[in-house]
Parts: sequence; C-alpha cells; structure tokens
Amino acid sequence: MIKVAKFGGSSVADAVQFRKVRDIIKSDPSRRLVVVSAAGKRDSKDHKITDLLYLCHAHVTYGVSCKEIFQTISDRFIEIRNDLGLSYRIEDELEKLGARINKDMSVDELVSRGEYLTSRLMAEYLGYRFLDACDCIFMDYDGSFQPEKIAKAVNDALKDSQGIVIPGFYGAMPSGKIRVMSRGGSDITGALVAAACMADIYENWTDVSGILMADPRIVDKPSPISEITFAELRELAYMGASVLHEDSVAPVKEKGIPLNIRNTNDPSHPGTMIVDKVDRQENDHDKFITGIAGKRNFIILTVSKHLNNSNETLRDVLEILDRHKVQAEHISMGIDQFALVLSQASIGDGLYEIIGEIKTKCKPDDVSVQDDIALIAAVGRKMIFRPGISGKVFHALGKEGINIRTIAQGSDELAIIVGVDNSQFENTIRVLYHSFAG
Ligand code: ASP
Repeated sequence: MIKVAKFGGSSVADAVQFRKVRDIIKSDPSRRLVVVSAAGKRDSKDHKITDLLYLCHAHVTYGVSCKEIFQTISDRFIEIRNDLGLSYRIEDELEKLGARINKDMSVDELVSRGEYLTSRLMAEYLGYRFLDACDCIFMDYDGSFQPEKIAKAVNDALKDSQGIVIPGFYGAMPSGKIRVMSRGGSDITGALVAAACMADIYENWTDVSGILMADPRIVDKPSPISEITFAELRELAYMGASVLHEDSVAPVKEKGIPLNIRNTNDPSHPGTMIVDKVDRQENDHDKFITGIAGKRNFIILTVSKHLNNSNETLRDVLEILDRHKVQAEHISMGIDQFALVLSQASIGDGLYEIIGEIKTKCKPDDVSVQDDIALIAAVGRKMIFRPGISGKVFHALGKEGINIRTIAQGSDELAIIVGVDNSQFENTIRVLYHSFAG
C-alpha cells in the first residue's frame, strides 16, 4: 500500500506543526510520499511565506529594497530549523538567494523557494529523501504536465528510498526553468504524484476536518461530509465551495484513486473521502443532500420574441455572449421567450452593449434584466431518480417566504439550483440546510 500525503501551508507553519506532520507520517509506514506547501500562516494576523516572496518580487520590480521582508522570511525558516534541532545549513541557501534577488530573477523561481526550503527542512526532519520538483514535476511551456515523465522520475526515486519529500506548487519546463502553478497548486503536485505512483490513496492534509455541508460563516457548525463523489464535489466547487485546487482532481479521478481530506490538527478524524462512486447500498432514509453552496450576483436576461420553433435567436444571443466572453450559466426556454442566467462579474460593464447588439441582431419584442440574483445549489447523488425532491425543496423555501426567481436542474439530476434575490442568499442556504441536511 502506498499513500501520498500532501500538507498545506498551515500544516507546516512552524515547528509545532512540523511535529504533528511527523507523527502522522510515522504512524503509517505506507505514507511514503510527502508533498509540502510553503510555510503558511501561524495565526490570522500572520503572513504566508509565498505572499512574502511575491511581495519581495514586487518591491524589486519597483526598485524598492525588500531586505526587511526577506529578513522576516529568513527568520521564519531559521526558527523552524532551530526549534526542530535540524542540521540543514539553511542560512547558506538564504544568503545565496538573497544575493540573487534582483529584477532579473524570475518571479516563479523566487516564489518557488517557499516550497523548496520548507521541503528541505521536512525531508531532514522525517529522515526521507528530498526530491526537487524540478527533477520530477515536468511541465510543458503551456503549463500542461507530462504524466509519463513524472511517473518515471517519481517511481525511480521511490525504488531506492523509504520515503520522499517533494515540494509542491512548481515544476520544470522543458528548458529546465522553474514554473509555478496557480495559487494553491501544491494540491495539484500531490495529485500528480499520487497518479504517478498509482497510490492507494491521496491524502490532502489541511486545517479542517474535511468538507463541510455548508459554509460555516452562514450555517452554524455545519456537519462534515464523510463521503462525496468527484462529480458532486465539482458541482459544489463550481457553485463556490472552496475546498481543493480545481485542477487537482483530474489526475487522481482518472486513475480511480480516492482523495481523503484530513485535518493535521485532528488526525484521528476520518475527514472527507472523495471517491468516483459510492459502492455500498445507500439507505433511502439517508439525507439526500450531500452539500449546499451558492454564489451571489447573477442577472437573468430575458429575451422575448416569436421564436417560430427555431433556435436561431438563441444561437444569435449565445454568439453575442461568446464574443463578450460571457458564459451562460443556465438557460430556460419558453414558447416565445428564453431566459439566460449570467454572472455579473463576467459581464462587467458590457451589459448595455450586449443588449444593444441583441436588439440590432435579433429584433426582439423585448429584452428585460433582473439583477442581484443569487444561485444556490443543493447537491446530492441521492436525488437521482427519486421523485418529489424538488417539490420538497420548493415547499421548504416557500414556507419561509423565499421567492424562487429561477430554477435549474442538471440533466444528471445531481443538483437542484434555485435563483433567489441576493438579499435571500444566506437565508436560503440556512433553510435548505436545516430542512434537509442538518
Ligand atoms: N504556497 C502556494 C500558495 O500559497 C501554493 C500552495 O500552498 O499550494 O498558493
């Protein structure tokens, strides 16, 4: 059995957290591959090393000294090294790095040093081999990955070592130059490494005990989700639940490797298991909603016109939206009108221009706009083929006087999405949670 364990920034923020990581690794010898983020915040007022490194780069770009910030970074690493009694001469690395920071040092190389140095310390602390991401996470110039090359490098390294520590968040391009991923990218490194060694499980260790059924800022103490499918997770993530880096799911999903979100500060908690499908028989009395998520600030754009049983007007409107890079979130069709749900952020200032183009091209009878709409999704695999669920959802919302402005259900019946006034956003989430999930 092989497990890949990825630890996020808060799990490696200081020596206390390093000790917890070591306990977790030592408690299970199959945790042979460890992927590490850069040291993160120790408390809410603290700064992530990655943010400080970006700040250093911004300073030098504008010709301002970053000495003080770099000193703060160095002090953090030296403190961790000293607290753990390690021998790694991190001062030498930091000194060399400090001397090289100038306008010509690439921002990618500079910020990647957060993960690099944190991993060097972790490797010594665990007694595992350090494998630089430059030597195993191979990327193309377009940012895509080279899974076969990655698999060879990871498996070769694994052959002659008991365990390996790999820095997350960066890799090497064909030229050998360092390239970082988007923020939170260590999740992707973990997934790539898990896929490379065909791990039995990819553990993603963070500071929460798994994914919660709803946003804890809205619902008081929501229950954690013990098991969720990749498809459900995608729906929740799309609707605003921030859990994992979006691109970290594909590599493990493709290989059928389950992903387990765990809490470094509460390692006995089983966390959330993300799987391709749930095999066991699910009880009819089980809650049918797995999770609830939502986003504010959409508009509903309604175009009225005799459509003459043709898609032409809809196609023209979609083409106009495409040109403006606005994606339709949902479409509902009527006999002589259709309504599109669009995100206000993607429209920006372009709404009047878009309406103008629709009027010119499609000659509609009317175009109307309802704004300040929030979309809330109730997501659950158990809704499929179960009659009466939408009715229950609408009844619960109606009872609380919440007016539904639009409704959508994916063809896979994995989510029921309701549009309500922005002002009813939180209330809707709470009503759904307490009616069906809590
Ligand atoms: N350290 C990087 C960040 O803060 C990457 C990561 O933590 O995954 O985004």
